[in-house]
Amino acid sequence: MTDKMLKFVKVDRETPNKRKVDKRVNDFKEVYDQFIQEKAKEQSSRCSQCGVPFCQIHCPLHNNIPDWLKLTAEGRLQEAHELAHSTNNMPEICGSICPQDRLCEGNCVIEKAGHGTVTIGAVEKYITDNAWEKGWIKPIKILKEINQSVGIIGAGPAGLACAEELRKSGYKITIYDRYDRPGGLLIYGIPNFKLEKFTVERRTNLLKESGIKFKQDFEIGKNISFDELRKRHDAILIATGVYKPREIELPGSDLKNIFPAMEFLTASNRKGLGDKVENFDNGMLNADNKDIVVIGGGDTGMDCVRTAVRQNAKTVKCLYRRDRENMPGSAREVRNAEEEGVEFVWLSSPKKFIGTSQISSVLVERMKLGKTDSSGRKKPEPIPNSEFEMKADMVIKALGFDPEDLPKLFKSPDLSISKSGTVKINLRTKETNLPGVFAAGDIVRGASLVVWAIRDGRDATVSIRKYLERKLNKSEKAA
Ligand SMILES: Cc1cc2nc3c(=O)[nH]c(=O)nc-3n(C[C@H](O)[C@H](O)[C@H](O)COP(=O)(O)OP(=O)(O)OC[C@H]3O[C@@H](n4cnc5c(N)ncnc54)[C@H](O)[C@@H]3O)c2cc1C
Ligand code: SF4
Repeated sequence: MTDKMLKFVKVDRETPNKRKVDKRVNDFKEVYDQFIQEKAKEQSSRCSQCGVPFCQIHCPLHNNIPDWLKLTAEGRLQEAHELAHSTNNMPEICGSICPQDRLCEGNCVIEKAGHGTVTIGAVEKYITDNAWEKGWIKPIKILKEINQSVGIIGAGPAGLACAEELRKSGYKITIYDRYDRPGGLLIYGIPNFKLEKFTVERRTNLLKESGIKFKQDFEIGKNISFDELRKRHDAILIATGVYKPREIELPGSDLKNIFPAMEFLTASNRKGLGDKVENFDNGMLNADNKDIVVIGGGDTGMDCVRTAVRQNAKTVKCLYRRDRENMPGSAREVRNAEEEGVEFVWLSSPKKFIGTSQISSVLVERMKLGKTDSSGRKKPEPIPNSEFEMKADMVIKALGFDPEDLPKLFKSPDLSISKSGTVKINLRTKETNLPGVFAAGDIVRGASLVVWAIRDGRDATVSIRKYLERKLNKSEKAA
């Protein structure tokens, strides 16, 4: 923050008169906006426009990064926004939550030369936030609606991206989702402090205004059978994500106050959205003033520890059975968590949950890394007689997610799935073994990233469009 901005913040707090405060706030916003704009320009002009755009290659959407950086540096923000939007349905969301250090920014040539990456994600977010503010982002207007409809199961990023692209072509779209709000993990998984929920709501409202229908609280397999849904629509996209939490079965697993990560994060996100959440309000899912132990070293684990810190936990510890170098979570997230006071207990694994009716401590066993296993990583092995007790008022299990049993849930035993339960598709067309049924996102890849879900949703659109055109031609010929 500049000195000028700090001055405004100080005066805002001291001024009792509302009109004066409003003026100060507006003045502050203006200075702040200008500051952000200057930062975006400064960063954009650092791009060396290198001949081989490694950033673009390593972005799953192959965003035209060098060109929108150039446009931003030149102050041509509307063109920058149009270019950014041409390959990405939610640039401001990706700009906020992509693990850029593993994707675009991690491959920036300037970063590789040791001068620090161009902050691509922040510029992408700036370009799009600015476009929203200026009113450049408008609902889709279609010239002629095509009399064919697509049913999309799942209102997460894969389903939303596919819906938007198909609607642009004029198809009738209905998205079905078992949650009460659209957005999938953007709403109920990813914590508020990483992604402001109004940005997701702004996107889904835009899709509603574009004529896409949303049916919330509507579960396929429960409110309607999958077969019935197929009869309702000309094509179907399955974009249901992965939600079955991986379990850890230990003595004491049934003690109270041991929760799966999604239960903890959903409660926190619902509170942030202003919902009444009984189990949070009665303290059960609230980390306030508690000793919290999170098991698991992936990105979900990092979200749990950082959420617990924000709920004023007394202590937050993260148990991970390998070491820092072998941790699956983003190094940046680990650093952030450490700075916020989270203690990482590397090379450690829970052996037993201890308590009478509810958890009071975890018996932890030290580990060492042994031989490399089939996944290419060193296998953790327990060190005999190394156990110690760790106090815990709440344990959060963040061990990853598997797909639910879709053929069973959908009562569609013919739907082909892989050994791990993901939906099998033709990788070129995204079509499943069932004609006219396509699939995209985590339910195909396994737990992955928002940017990949968007990419899959967009790719599926191309094949669905071709399929629908063929179907229409056939029925016209037959008529
Ligand atoms: C805690 C957490 C944090 C994450 N943080 C990040 C991050 O920072 N950056 C990042 O890039 N990725 C992150 N991810 C991963 C990212 O959220 C997912 O990869 C992405 O959301 C997958 O999109 P999707 O559309 O495939 O599925 P989802 O977003 O899971 O959406 C699937 C939707 O399908 C609905 N559904 C499921 N079954 C049915 C049914 N039978 N009937 C009707 N509806 C159904 C669900 O209600 C849900 O709304 C995170 C994931 C988690 C769990
Ligand atoms: S979508 Fe993600 S990977 Fe691609 S440019 Fe934006 S932040 Fe980088």
